[in-house]
Amino acid sequence: MSSADQSTTTSTDPTPKVTNAYKIALLAGDAIGPEIMTQAVRVLDLLAKHRDVEFELLEAPFGAGAYFSHGKAFPDEAKQACDAADAILKGPVGLSHAESQKIPVEEQAERGAILPLRARYNTYANFRPIYLSPDMSHFSPLKQSVIPNGIDILLIRELVGGLYFGAKERGVNADGKRYVKETLEYDENQIRQVLIIGFEQARQRKGVLHNIHKSNVLMSSVFWNEVLEEVRVDFPDVEVIHLLVDAAATALCLNPGQFDVMVMENMFGDILSDQGGGILGSLGLMPSACIGPEKAYYEPSHGSAPDIAGKNIANPYSMIGCVAMMLDMSFGLKAESDAVWAAMRSVFEAGYTTADLSVHEPENKHSDTQSAAAKKVSTTEFGDLVMIELERLLTSA
Ligand code: NAD
Repeated sequence: MSSADQSTTTSTDPTPKVTNAYKIALLAGDAIGPEIMTQAVRVLDLLAKHRDVEFELLEAPFGAGAYFSHGKAFPDEAKQACDAADAILKGPVGLSHAESQKIPVEEQAERGAILPLRARYNTYANFRPIYLSPDMSHFSPLKQSVIPNGIDILLIRELVGGLYFGAKERGVNADGKRYVKETLEYDENQIRQVLIIGFEQARQRKGVLHNIHKSNVLMSSVFWNEVLEEVRVDFPDVEVIHLLVDAAATALCLNPGQFDVMVMENMFGDILSDQGGGILGSLGLMPSACIGPEKAYYEPSHGSAPDIAGKNIANPYSMIGCVAMMLDMSFGLKAESDAVWAAMRSVFEAGYTTADLSVHEPENKHSDTQSAAAKKVSTTEFGDLVMIELERLLTSA
């Protein structure tokens, strides 16, 4: 999200609560989930200390750990906490491929927890900011000449329809061969509501909307584009640029600066947003907001990173970024949200890196300061630095 304008108000946002006490369902998740959630909670504690605001945290089991402890990936305790909450803060869930095999297919993290959470609150609009300030652009694996102004894209992914939610079937056909069938299904309202969000965001930003589709092959994309033509009548000030999803994947690498707001269906968004993490330098820089008509939940775009769990090296930017998005989009605490973004970015802009990002550090970027290696920080140390900067910002405002 643009550092100049990180506000993401939409016409269908859950109305920010006019109060100073907020209930947050806290679903820490699996693997690195609890490690990065700890840093996010420190931010909430600091805000409560320096502002007239209270956060009641409703911790609940969710994900693979919940399956082992409660027999369900989305147990009743978690449903109750989420129902009671003003907003939901969710860490990543899931296990390594091998460990996942110990869980029945229907209770594995996505099918058992994440998709039911999205369906329960109809969180149809997924905001995935792909952002690097110019002073953080050395984290990108792209050449500096490709991203002279950093990267600033808002990818909006439809989140409760399409192939991920369609009917699924497995069986044996008349020829005795095993088969699988999955259905990509959207009704016009599902498409319209997320396109409206895309147009609104484009209008608030640069007035350009990239519509990503595959209408040369998929009827669902032909239909998507028909609905778009109906919606755009209400947004004559927004320029629409159509791009096939495969071409968009290439363009994201070759010239990400051409994009501002991108809108697309569920699976395209899942894949392209991970590519977004790739051009930033790490999925650890990818927070997200999942917005429904009455409730929103906030989660990093990435998974539970079992390969680095328990080592205190995960990048908590994505999880703390979720707090920043929640403060703005669910609670209307825009100044506080801006302070959280500014605190995190100033740590990176000062030359610190986390383990995931330092692999992209060029030799000469910080040659006038400490060496990059000397500035590599752990999950906890990054949290410490953010707290110092955030406290300074909150007390000097
Ligand atoms: P992943 O996103 O967990 O990891 C991909 C790579 O990115 C790994 O190398 C990992 O170490 C790195 N990475 C991710 N987040 C990071 C962070 N904050 N800091 C530093 N490095 C980070 O993808 P995966 O390995 O394919 O999936 C692991 C598990 O997560 C699977 O069970 C999958 O189903 C689940 N998953 C959950 C969600 C979710 O909770 N919304 C999303 C995607 C995948």
